[in-house]
Amino acid sequence: MLNADQNDILFERARAVIPGGVNSPVRAFKAVGGTPRFIRRAEGAYFWDANDKRYIDYIGSWGPMILGHGHPAVVEAVQKAVLEGFSYGAPTEREIELAEAILALVPSMEMVRLVSSGTEAAMSALRLARGATGRKHIIKFEGCYHGHADALLVKAGSGLATFGHPTSAGVPPEVTQHTLVLEYNNIAQLEEAFALHGNDIACLMIEAIAGNMNFVRATPAFAARCRELCTQHGALLVFDEVMTGFRVGLHGAQGVLGITPDLTVLGKVIGGGMPLAAFGGPRAIMEQLAPLGPVYQAGTLSGNPVATACGLATLKEIAKPGFYEALGKKTRSLVDGLKAAAAAEGLPFNADSEGGMFGFFLMKELPQNYATVMTTDNAKFNALFHGLLDRGVYIAPALYEAGFVSAAHGDDDIAATIDAARQVFRTLPS
Ligand code: PLP
Repeated sequence: MLNADQNDILFERARAVIPGGVNSPVRAFKAVGGTPRFIRRAEGAYFWDANDKRYIDYIGSWGPMILGHGHPAVVEAVQKAVLEGFSYGAPTEREIELAEAILALVPSMEMVRLVSSGTEAAMSALRLARGATGRKHIIKFEGCYHGHADALLVKAGSGLATFGHPTSAGVPPEVTQHTLVLEYNNIAQLEEAFALHGNDIACLMIEAIAGNMNFVRATPAFAARCRELCTQHGALLVFDEVMTGFRVGLHGAQGVLGITPDLTVLGKVIGGGMPLAAFGGPRAIMEQLAPLGPVYQAGTLSGNPVATACGLATLKEIAKPGFYEALGKKTRSLVDGLKAAAAAEGLPFNADSEGGMFGFFLMKELPQNYATVMTTDNAKFNALFHGLLDRGVYIAPALYEAGFVSAAHGDDDIAATIDAARQVFRTLPS
């Protein structure tokens, strides 16, 4: 078969043996249509698909690859670790080093437990919050994603401050009956929920800069009210910083907003692309965990020696002076360039960024919540996505996902991306 599309061939093979051909749904391009690109290799700001076509990568493995792909210091650390053994199931010094490095950068955390995925970290933080407070109810917000633990896979109920419904088959309503789902940035609703259920709320879990409804910031007033109400009612404030941790800045969204949560959930960047996540907080709460306390939590691969080597090497690089200033400047130049190109074409458009994380919207105003994000014209977004993909620019294949810039993206990559976007904007209806 001459010029056969290798991605098509792989997709067909994959679909025969893996549900939908992918191991995580968004990779399937279901929202945008077309064949997912099967990636063969990556380097710096780029990856190459099965046809050997190069893309400027703006997903960065959905956040972890903040240094770009194959950073030499990280590769060296991982290679060295692999030669010393893949996994022991016994403690190592490197776990202490990584814990110390994380705690030094996130002042709200006095102790940390390492796990293997963000889902596990958020699920464990939730169990800990319930165990530590002896309460059942939790608050989450529509459009925030905290991994796929049953109790967190919930969409809003039908009325104000009501309990949510499972968003997935296989989750019995009884499992989500204690999960209150509220509108992001809606202070009145938040106050009502605490007024109604304050004494029963174990924790409020939030992405304080949300990256799973594109890119939506909690307003400073909303974030401050979350903190106040939790303190007032004895509930724990849990910041899910799986995406924002070491991504929006060296001290995460809590550093950007100047708010101290009780518990913090981390993932993605702390593993540098290897399976590693964490949760932590004050000593008194963390010591409720097994083996010291009654809250059970465990993992065969937790604190894996190869993953911790990768994470440590990554943290060393990002903690260097000026790292986030340079990354933030680069990301802003992308966002500003896109805004200017859209404005020149008379296209309703807006965009925002913090550190190495960004979002753009095919609408004039920056949205404040999930419902507004979802009013985006799907067909228009899909045309933009495929136009960019054809031109070698890979953005998230869904309009409700954030984008990521790495330290490896050069000014020429940013300029090429803006140029590609300009060409595609011209083809979109205004
Ligand atoms: N929390 C947030 C904010 C996330 O963005 C994600 C994943 O995208 C998770 C939790 C779940 O992490 P993982 O996919 O590693 O299980």
